[in-house]
Amino acid sequence: MDIGPVRQPEYTGENRCLPCTVVNVAIALTLAGTLGIVTTVPVGATALGGFLAVIYLRGYLVPGTPELTERYLPASVLRLFGKEPIATRSLEGTAAEDPWDQLVAAEVVDRSSEGTLSLTDRFREEFRVEIDRRESAPGADDVEALAASEAVERGPRAYSIDGNRLLRWESDAALLADAAAASVLRATVEGWSDLERDARLALLERIRLLLERCPGCDGPVDRNDERVDPCCQPPHVAVWTVCRDCDAVIADVTAPESDVEVWAGLLGVDADGAARTDASEAVEGWSNS
Ligand SMILES: [Zn+2]
Repeated sequence: MDIGPVRQPEYTGENRCLPCTVVNVAIALTLAGTLGIVTTVPVGATALGGFLAVIYLRGYLVPGTPELTERYLPASVLRLFGKEPIATRSLEGTAAEDPWDQLVAAEVVDRSSEGTLSLTDRFREEFRVEIDRRESAPGADDVEALAASEAVERGPRAYSIDGNRLLRWESDAALLADAAAASVLRATVEGWSDLERDARLALLERIRLLLERCPGCDGPVDRNDERVDPCCQPPHVAVWTVCRDCDAVIADVTAPESDVEVWAGLLGVDADGAARTDASEAVEGWSNS
């Protein structure tokens, strides 16, 4: 039997979605059981075999299951099935103002007429001086300074704040970047110290995404972006930067695709500000879908 057209590779094999499969097997058992009761056991058993074959080949029995689980299964249930909800590191922020606008107003970030975002020369210079000034690796003192709370080291680059919140950095270079940027902003930007902690962290994360040189080794930084569309969860866009010399992950942000216009100034643009050839296509593709 040729089962090619029946098989749905996007929902089977390594793409098979465990929550969808469990939900559908439960439905198949209920249907077949009911059928077995109202007719005869062999009929129910045959039906069950058929239902399971459909789930095996198509990934699910009830049409639209991936959309249903995406919408209705809470993150806690998805986690039970080993599906981690995509981490979104508080991109919305708590401030009413858009963080990018705040950074532009503070003359930390420039926005070109095409909307491309980059660090201002002034901030770049101040940041470099601050990095060079530092003699020791960043530690709890730096985290306390940038979070304005007591910080306790819980692991490599992981600190608990106020005993109830864990802050974790992707690399030593990432923590160094935030510590240095926070020092510069505290000294040069009015109102920095009045911001809520989450608003400050959101601004630091954006600055990190725009760094063109690695804070750790001064190597060039590559920026990447990718659309992530896992089963059971809404599509997201990931943007991350990596040092070409020491491989340190400098920044790594994942945002719901619905917020993609907030990040459009970064997408498809290399860290040195040069637009990649596929840039406009990529952004358009996202906003159209
Ligand atoms: Zn590096």
